[in-house]
Amino acid sequence: MTMRIAFIGLGNMGGPMAGNMVKAGHEVRGFDLSEGARDASSTRGVTPFDDLIGALTGADAVITMLPNGALVKKVWGQIADTVAPGTLLIDSSTIDVDSAIAAHQMLTNKGCLTLDAPVSGGTGGAEAGTLTFMVGGADAALAKGTPLLEPMAGRVVPCGGQGAGQAAKICNNMLLGISMIGAAEAFALGEKLGLEHQALFDVLSTSSGQCWSVNTYCPVPGPVPTSPANNSYKPGFTAALMLKDLRLAQEAALSRGAQIPLGAEAAQIYGLFESLGNGGTDFSGIINFLRGQSK
Ligand code: NAD
Repeated sequence: MTMRIAFIGLGNMGGPMAGNMVKAGHEVRGFDLSEGARDASSTRGVTPFDDLIGALTGADAVITMLPNGALVKKVWGQIADTVAPGTLLIDSSTIDVDSAIAAHQMLTNKGCLTLDAPVSGGTGGAEAGTLTFMVGGADAALAKGTPLLEPMAGRVVPCGGQGAGQAAKICNNMLLGISMIGAAEAFALGEKLGLEHQALFDVLSTSSGQCWSVNTYCPVPGPVPTSPANNSYKPGFTAALMLKDLRLAQEAALSRGAQIPLGAEAAQIYGLFESLGNGGTDFSGIINFLRGQSK
């Protein structure tokens, strides 16, 4: 069914995601504080607005794709003052669980249907419409929201109630950060032991060391031609975004009393990597830091 969608936050992820909603036949009205982002989205068929309220007018559904939890709460607060009861609200930003739950409550109190639906798959997945959505919210919101996500999604995974999508995202990315450091350490040690990258990859990728960080996103050039290691560690997924997610995991662990010693160590390591000027490097570039070759 064709819907009128307000898309708020048209950056690296939101721009192509909004474009896929246009391709699916929806009327998409976009708002971003950045004029450049608004202009770029208009080339994808999005109708740009230079104010939030204009974009929200008559919306059946609102999708937000913003940098952090404080902004999501601020924007959802403004949306709560504007949209009609029954409107579907979806936040696909990566934010802390408590902000996600607070945002849900602001809008469910107004009679709206709400989902937290963070994504994995990066800008490539956003362009291709193959993102994995991890979704939290009430059953009625899931029933209405899941088909709407389809044009942007490879997979939609229901994770539970309000905040469950963000919880799953944080757990996944903490594991990813830890496993990438582990993969990088294995290759760095293998180099010192005289192993060829391809030989070590052939073992790791088919043995008990196999994982996404080795098999799909290998941190050394050669074995996996599509991995950023083959392109001077151009992102991909930046170290700055990995650090953001690791810090969200730490906040969540502190607030809920979970023990995450390796997650905390991974945050320390990516924090050092970023402080040396590598925030814009792909997160798999951590191997250069571990070899002592960072800036
Ligand atoms: P981005 O910085 O490219 O885009 C964010 C956009 O939000 C910007 O264009 C900014 O101008 C806009 N914005 C900020 N405040 C606003 C406001 N009050 N109203 C309207 N627009 C506002 O970031 P991105 O890479 O698109 O990431 C967006 C979210 O997706 C983040 O939470 C990020 O952690 C998450 N994410 C990113 C990736 C990735 O690979 N880039 C992957 C998965 C998840």
